[in-house]
Amino acid sequence: MTSFYVENFGCRATQADGAAIERQFEERGLVRAAAPARSEIVVLNTCTVTASADQDARAAIRRIRRENPGCQIVVTGCYAQRASEEVASLPGVTCVVGNSHKHRLAEIVVASSGRDERERITSQAGFVSLSSLMPEARSEIFVSDIFAHTELLAAPVFDGAGIGTSNDRTRPNLKVQDGCDNRCSFCVIPHVRGQSRSLPLSQIVSEVNALVSAGYREVVISGINLGRWGRDLATPLRFENMIREILDRTSLEKLRISSVEPMDWSDELIDLMANSPRIAKHAHVPMQSGSDRVLRAMHRKYRPWHYREKLQKIRAAMPTAAVGADVMVGFPGEGETDFEETRLLIEELPFTYLHVFTYSSRPGTPAALMRDQVPVQVARERNCILRELAARKKLSFMQSFVGKTVEAITLNVCDGKSTETLTDNYLKLLLQGQHQPNQWMKSRVEQVADSTLIATLAAA
Ligand code: SF4
Repeated sequence: MTSFYVENFGCRATQADGAAIERQFEERGLVRAAAPARSEIVVLNTCTVTASADQDARAAIRRIRRENPGCQIVVTGCYAQRASEEVASLPGVTCVVGNSHKHRLAEIVVASSGRDERERITSQAGFVSLSSLMPEARSEIFVSDIFAHTELLAAPVFDGAGIGTSNDRTRPNLKVQDGCDNRCSFCVIPHVRGQSRSLPLSQIVSEVNALVSAGYREVVISGINLGRWGRDLATPLRFENMIREILDRTSLEKLRISSVEPMDWSDELIDLMANSPRIAKHAHVPMQSGSDRVLRAMHRKYRPWHYREKLQKIRAAMPTAAVGADVMVGFPGEGETDFEETRLLIEELPFTYLHVFTYSSRPGTPAALMRDQVPVQVARERNCILRELAARKKLSFMQSFVGKTVEAITLNVCDGKSTETLTDNYLKLLLQGQHQPNQWMKSRVEQVADSTLIATLAAA
């Protein structure tokens, strides 16, 4: 039987796409290999959000070619969609499948062993064949205009073999939305993922029920612009409708909501999260900048005061919730005053963690053409300042739990002596002793050591 291996890069949505690709192969009778070096087909499911994401994909192609020279290397995902010909020209790549054709990836790859079948698929797919453009190249490209596509590739990160058989199988990730209708000036995502589209409600409920039946207790729902879920459906719905349906029509114990844009944090959503013990107290609210001027240049739809108000509402409703954000430094034209406004807003707001990114110019975006690009060294320094600030805030949040009893779900056994666990409010604890994954444990937080919370089992 032909073996395959899927290696994912990037965000949660990409991981979910990777799981859907694995499902496609398994439905066609192929078997998962344990590692790329032991696989006949290796799929690299790439990201292109920054220049370094592209570099990571190229390094992976080189590594796999070195470790397993006989395998077929198939490159898919956002980098494949954005720069298909560049990817196809890399030594070792046998096939490039853009996001436009990712829902048919297994069909394309499996058929590539039979010429007639491949020709049938390619004639339907409207693909561009590199071999016809560059006769010396061996790779083929399956890519077309992403905005012409409305399919949504969706499968939970779901392990049919059972719970806990590999890393973090305890909290499957279910992608319910793809694409984005916003046009933030720095962001390449709409160009590689297309228009916003939603998984129908009935399918979400049945996927969640399948996960519950398989024994999963926590499910993470994700999307590219998750808060816009439902707006494109034949009968438009709101994100909150979906959350209520999951609570009403499944017995899922814990639902975790990944990132939701600031203006989609409605009072109703905040109330739902605050009042349901079945929704993890975890709000991730992308901020990007605290400068009005920079937010406008980024084409973000809110101003710093909107953002402040949302965060304050979230904190008032959920005093111990995890509150996180993505922040970007070094956007073109970001001056010292803009950066200081960002720093002060972060200082003021109740963040418990931050993801700090340095702006990376992406071809085809308006920001790439803006003058006044910030020198790399300045952007790096700003990044360090915000990371230090974030680390301080995170530490003080962690310290506020020392001596308290919390409930956490077990993830993986580490170092043979302790088990990594995760609380409702997104704190990772090292619980002393070995415990089975996917169990709720009452733990007493003993101390913070090396930026890690150490806990022991609480008395029953
Ligand atoms: S909201 Fe903005 S940053 Fe987020 S995916 Fe859409 S365009 Fe990109």
